[in-house]
Amino acid sequence: MRFLDIVTLFLLANLSDGQRMGSFVRPVHYDLAFLPIISGGAPRLCGHVFIDLEPTTTTNLVTLHGADITIIDVSVEQVFLVGKSNSSHSKDRFLQLEDLCFSGLFELVNEAHTVIQEEPEKQQLNIILKETLIKEKRYRLGLFYVAKVNDDSRGFFRANYRNDHTSCCIQGWFGGTQMEPSSARKVLPCFDEPGFKTTYAISIGHDKAMTALSNMPETDTRPMENTRDWRWTSFSRSPPMPTYLLALFVTDYDKVERIYKVCNNRTVKMRFWGQPNQLPHLRQSIDVVPDMLHYMEKYVGQPFTLPKIDFIAAPTQLDFEAMENWGLILFRENRLFFKEGIDGEGDRFQVVQTMAHELAHQFFGNLVTCDWWSDIAFYEGMCGIFEIELTKHAMPNLTFRAEMSQVSAIRSAMKIEEHIQAASVIREVEKIEDTEMMFDPITYNKGSGLLLMLRNFVGHDHFRNAVVTFMERYQFQSVNSQKFMEILDEEVHRNREFGRGMNVTKIMNSWTTQDAYPIVRCTRMSDGRRIRLSQLPHPVLRNITTDEHANRLWWIPISMTDASRPDFSQQGKYPRVWLTPERPTLEIPYFPPASRHHGQETGEEENTWILLNGEFSGYTRVLYDDRNWRLISRQLVLNHTVIPQVTRAQLIDDAFTLALAELMDYQVVLELIEYLTMVNDEFVRSTAQFHLRWMKERTRQNGSLAELFDDYMEKLKFERSDIEESNENNNLIRSGGFDPFDGAGCLQWSEGVCVDKIFRLFQAQMDGTISPEGKRAMTENLERNWCLVMRYGGKDEWKWAWRMSVNDVWSSQRSKILSAMSCSQDQGRLKQLLSRVFHPTIQQTSRDSFVMIEKMADNPLARPMVLNFIKTNWERLGRHFKRSGDNLKLLTSASKYLSTSEELNEMSQFVADLEKRDKKLDRSVTAGILDDIRANIRWAEKHSEQVYSVLEARRVTGRTKNRSTEA
Ligand SMILES: [Zn+2]
Repeated sequence: MRFLDIVTLFLLANLSDGQRMGSFVRPVHYDLAFLPIISGGAPRLCGHVFIDLEPTTTTNLVTLHGADITIIDVSVEQVFLVGKSNSSHSKDRFLQLEDLCFSGLFELVNEAHTVIQEEPEKQQLNIILKETLIKEKRYRLGLFYVAKVNDDSRGFFRANYRNDHTSCCIQGWFGGTQMEPSSARKVLPCFDEPGFKTTYAISIGHDKAMTALSNMPETDTRPMENTRDWRWTSFSRSPPMPTYLLALFVTDYDKVERIYKVCNNRTVKMRFWGQPNQLPHLRQSIDVVPDMLHYMEKYVGQPFTLPKIDFIAAPTQLDFEAMENWGLILFRENRLFFKEGIDGEGDRFQVVQTMAHELAHQFFGNLVTCDWWSDIAFYEGMCGIFEIELTKHAMPNLTFRAEMSQVSAIRSAMKIEEHIQAASVIREVEKIEDTEMMFDPITYNKGSGLLLMLRNFVGHDHFRNAVVTFMERYQFQSVNSQKFMEILDEEVHRNREFGRGMNVTKIMNSWTTQDAYPIVRCTRMSDGRRIRLSQLPHPVLRNITTDEHANRLWWIPISMTDASRPDFSQQGKYPRVWLTPERPTLEIPYFPPASRHHGQETGEEENTWILLNGEFSGYTRVLYDDRNWRLISRQLVLNHTVIPQVTRAQLIDDAFTLALAELMDYQVVLELIEYLTMVNDEFVRSTAQFHLRWMKERTRQNGSLAELFDDYMEKLKFERSDIEESNENNNLIRSGGFDPFDGAGCLQWSEGVCVDKIFRLFQAQMDGTISPEGKRAMTENLERNWCLVMRYGGKDEWKWAWRMSVNDVWSSQRSKILSAMSCSQDQGRLKQLLSRVFHPTIQQTSRDSFVMIEKMADNPLARPMVLNFIKTNWERLGRHFKRSGDNLKLLTSASKYLSTSEELNEMSQFVADLEKRDKKLDRSVTAGILDDIRANIRWAEKHSEQVYSVLEARRVTGRTKNRSTEA
């Protein structure tokens, strides 16, 4: 006995300071009996779990995760026959659970432990057993426990809804789980880390009027012995999976069922669950699932593992879009249901894209899992790639939107890295808060941007072969992304195509283990034949001049094309040269004999533009010399379609960003966008407008410059009927083949839309006389259309919109209405809008408040009001949002255009005060807010004058027709 005590103390002293699990035992199987009571005033959940364990050392200490869990009783016994089901307890555990949850009667029978030590800050429980567990034997630990039913969509949560189908106001109930990343510990005591994969046998107790669902199909349902109208439903044993994918649901929803055939004539049952009145809106989701699943199975070379998948939406505002629980995917309601006639094409896209993402996870994440949270960028990045591939495959008419969405996502990650000291893609994760922080745009968007670059430089075939090997070799395991890189490295070197000394792991590590990204500088040498390539780290914007940052180097693949043979195909995106940490600068002959052989030698090259890493083939920006920029500008004016749309947007985004970093001149940038005054190049124009707006906001102190900006931006606006590139992006607006915004006789244009027409349609909507076509047109761009009405309209329009927003409208529609209302130019109305956040009777959801405040911060008139509101209600808002960090995000949005030293002083004071009050505040964000204001001030001081003279000079240039589009 004494010896054991010493072992215990020794082991406790050796547990790591971090919050990861010490590994003295390894779980191999869970058998969970789960009894949640969700309706009425005293929600509670009781459970009993058998955990089969294998000690990795002889010990009497078992450390488990548990948060807000009370352990009632502990049993332990040795398991002699692997696979033999436990007999001594399994009969009465269900009865005991009934007693515990319904009557509170519970008889302690086991008490196999001497002490349970709670470590709340680590969310762990140390159970010191009376019996010693011997290394390499198997034990079954039994735990009766009570846990909490939450209301905030973490752990096991409940929500109710009005069941309209039966009659008004009958309440329906829903209970379900959201475990990722670390909330399984709120639902059962367990080993809550993704590296532990085990099988699960689940039974759920529920009211007989409800259905119980879990990851696997139900095998058996039987009445409870002592509780009338309640049942136990059991589910078949799952394959090995991590705790974060465990799913336990009870609901009184209805369902639509489909059968899907996978290879070998096996079938997968698909059930789509919803409230009775929601079922008709499932069609879009049901339509795409089989195609997408088929595509994934074919690509990864594995059939979908489970015999069924359930798709279910929570009747509450989740703070995530969807969760990929294996075999039981949970959605926010406007991501599973698409309401024809109420939702627009943008909503349809998001429904399809979300479904694609979660189906990709069934393989990346579920079949093969990360071994620790620090590495999820690989799995989320893969799903980011496949959500686009699957969307294009299942809905070819959404291809354009899908590509644009991908480009925007990658660009948004780059912008974050330009503004704040962001974390690297693979980073240290020790604490529970670190885990939550992993789910950020760097993980998702930079993650998929880097994988796209990887796929591009190894080639699609090699990439796919590596995926197939990876899935085959590591299915049902938890592994690090390094394993994938190793497979890929073997694959690319098999045929000796890849250069010697090039190693995929080494290349990718240079991108994933350091923050920021490189700029590639491309300069033509004076002989006109050679170019010089070099790399320099971005962001320079943050003025980081430390050696550590300046010395950062990457392995950069560089693809090239030029005016004489523009090639933006797959082949053309393959790297021709590499800049490496050992060779960060390179001079190469660019116009080699082969090209001169076709062209004439007489100086033609000098007038030929060169373009590197087009089509977003690298996670870089490219800085050319001024002459090359001007050659590109000339090409865009002559015929912009020679360079594809994605690359055009990339060029313009790069140019503005590099000018901001003071690496190029605004004169050159404005020349580059000159062609946008001649053709309606919608997506690219929106990229330019984003930057111009930013510049304009920062110069608003300077009235005459702001006026010049307004003038200039007016030139970039085109009426709907101007859309010329019919084969590129017309399906965005013209899906119906009619255009009610055609502006013949229009008196007022705004944002390229006829305001008169919108007003007439809005009026008709108010009177109830709107035609079906008109209604469709208003719905399709609801936010933009209503925004115009709110901006130019009067009291009646405002009141009508207000009433609509408090009526029981579809959630996605309400957030569009609230966003539109934030366009108002009336101080009183804006104040009224802000009052909704804490309104006693409206009880606005925190999600709606967040969207609304963020949109209001975009309206210059509302911005000071919003800033003041956030400052004075800081703590109260924090409680309203529940999610940490939301306050800071709003503060960032509301202060991003501040640009005077008084504003900086005020904000510095507020931030200093906050940091004193809240020790947990994320200081990288507050530092970023102040840095941004300083950068704004600096920018205005340095560039206003130059921008003024450039804009002034361009004022006289008129709009002319683009030659190519007439051809
Ligand atoms: Zn995901």
